[in-house]
Amino acid sequence: MKTGKINVQTENIFPIIKKFLYSDHEIFLRELVSNAVDASQKLKFFSKNGEFKGDLGDQKVEIILNSTEKTLTIRDYGIGMTEEEIEKYINQIAFSGAEEFVEKYKGKEGAEQIIGHFGLGFYSSFMVADKVQVRSLSYKDGAKAIQWESNGTTDFTIEEVEKESVGTDIVLHISEESVEFLEKERIQGILDKYCKFLPFPIVFGTKTEYIEDPKGEKEEDGKVKRVAVDVENQINNTSPAWTKKPSELSDEDYNSFYRELYPSTMEDPLFHIHLNVDYPFNLTGILYFPKLQENIEVQQNKINLYSNQVFITNNVEQIVPECLTLLHGVIDSPDIPLNVSRSYLQGDSNVREISSHITKKVADKLASMYKNDRKDFESKWDDLKIFVEYGTLSDEKFSEKAKAFSLLKSTDGEYLSIDEYKEKVSAIQTDKNDKVVFLYTNDSTEQFGLVKKAKDRGYSVLQIDGPIAPHWIAKLEQSYENIAFARVDADTLDKLIQKDEEIPSKLSKEEEEELKPLFEASVNKEKYTVQFESMSSDDAPIIITQPEFIRRMMEQQKMGGSNGFFGAFPDSRNLVVNANHDKIQEILETKTEKSKKNKIKQLTDIALLSQGMLKGEALDAFIERSIEKV
Ligand code: ADP
Repeated sequence: MKTGKINVQTENIFPIIKKFLYSDHEIFLRELVSNAVDASQKLKFFSKNGEFKGDLGDQKVEIILNSTEKTLTIRDYGIGMTEEEIEKYINQIAFSGAEEFVEKYKGKEGAEQIIGHFGLGFYSSFMVADKVQVRSLSYKDGAKAIQWESNGTTDFTIEEVEKESVGTDIVLHISEESVEFLEKERIQGILDKYCKFLPFPIVFGTKTEYIEDPKGEKEEDGKVKRVAVDVENQINNTSPAWTKKPSELSDEDYNSFYRELYPSTMEDPLFHIHLNVDYPFNLTGILYFPKLQENIEVQQNKINLYSNQVFITNNVEQIVPECLTLLHGVIDSPDIPLNVSRSYLQGDSNVREISSHITKKVADKLASMYKNDRKDFESKWDDLKIFVEYGTLSDEKFSEKAKAFSLLKSTDGEYLSIDEYKEKVSAIQTDKNDKVVFLYTNDSTEQFGLVKKAKDRGYSVLQIDGPIAPHWIAKLEQSYENIAFARVDADTLDKLIQKDEEIPSKLSKEEEEELKPLFEASVNKEKYTVQFESMSSDDAPIIITQPEFIRRMMEQQKMGGSNGFFGAFPDSRNLVVNANHDKIQEILETKTEKSKKNKIKQLTDIALLSQGMLKGEALDAFIERSIEKV
């Protein structure tokens, strides 16, 4: 037996490593299985190029849990290591890395950043084990099987052992404080998370598990006898869809892979994009467009980031562009550092380049879908639009490309591009300042009356809703010339699209002065400002409006988009009286002040009711009054 001392100045580095890496102990298993897969891959390569002439066997990685011995073993049939290699890789590299780590970060806060700089690699095993044995037989001719052992100090031993198969066993003697890693479910959970798509079979074996006797034999007390068995099951799918060529896959293959990724999701995705890039970086993956609709939050953080089929994280927020976090699927790139911390990844130029490339690919895919099958694209638009809106707002390049496939949906169910729509309505919806006004409703049921009036006048009304639509239309107003969006309840129709001709008013200044206080008395004065407008006599006698800019300010405040620079916006509205409506003339001619007030109250309530704003006590009083009149 040979003994030695690992060459580091810092006497006991492991307690420090343990302390630094405290938050994510389970990663040790990912690291060790990755090493095992690497070793298997190398041997496969050597076998192909003739350097290794022996029998490859069916290469796999076994994880063996032995709760009696309190060990967890990671076994591979890879290249193995000679004594020299163990000295070199396990002692020197690993430990010198560890030493550098300690030197650089002693006493500093922010362990996460540190993890990104050095592969946790093999020595992360000491986070959970107080003794580690490496038993290895190299593939090289004449190699002798050897065992390296260390108990987490800088001391180690190396000795020759018996080992028949080429490859490596890493035996972890799990420490007292890490007994969780002796639980079958815990290990199963970690393997499911990190190893589900590794390229070699990952087999999880538990020694001596007790199950009900398959033969049904009974104990003396009549209970079914329990017998000890060794259980093995394979964790992974070694060739996940994203590693295949698109030409090898049908839509059903893509969908079934989607279900493999998200077993609890019932719905099929809308469509997918298969990414395959080899220059200037390597990247493969499949992105799925889920049916988004309104529930953005529920859907977020479903992209899984892999590096060579090893799971890294599904928390890709701030790593990929924000709009992409709405998508589902897998991104695999060996150019993304394996041991990642959020702050490290954000600063990584590869990662930045990768994410802008993906955004571009996604935009290109949407553009080609639009071009190739417009009808189909239209049918998907309601689910897609939040993504497109999000992308348009958050990414300038995407915004440019999105001009080619952004759609507006009219209340008649028509889908038109911005340019098409502008063209369609410009003849009658251009105002006196040469702006083409795009009228819209966010709720065609509540605003039914207003939408109808607009259509009666020959105008078109769009359906624009959803949480980020107000921001999106503001962005469109900036990027297209001479267009303006106005919600149907933002003003009177004549003011929404202001033309040159003015309708003369049937009310004199004096008559307005006389009526104004009566109207003011019919509503909450703090909230409503009474105005008289000379509208068409066909228009409603009263409409409630809220100027477009006030509403947008409020919406932005609600979404946290405004920093409060303008102060809190009061929810103020206008009560617009149609000076030319017959009913208003009637009120003027009404004899007593009391009946004037009653009529006005009835008219304002009807206006509120027709816009879905008459609620609670006021609504109840209105109903009582109306019943009496029957
Ligand atoms: P990293 O994997 O980041 O290089 P590690 O500390 O995990 O760092 O491993 C150091 C080296 O030890 C590896 O690069 C590899 O050469 C060797 N090694 C580790 N595990 C195995 C294994 N199971 N089989 C063969 N070689 C291994």
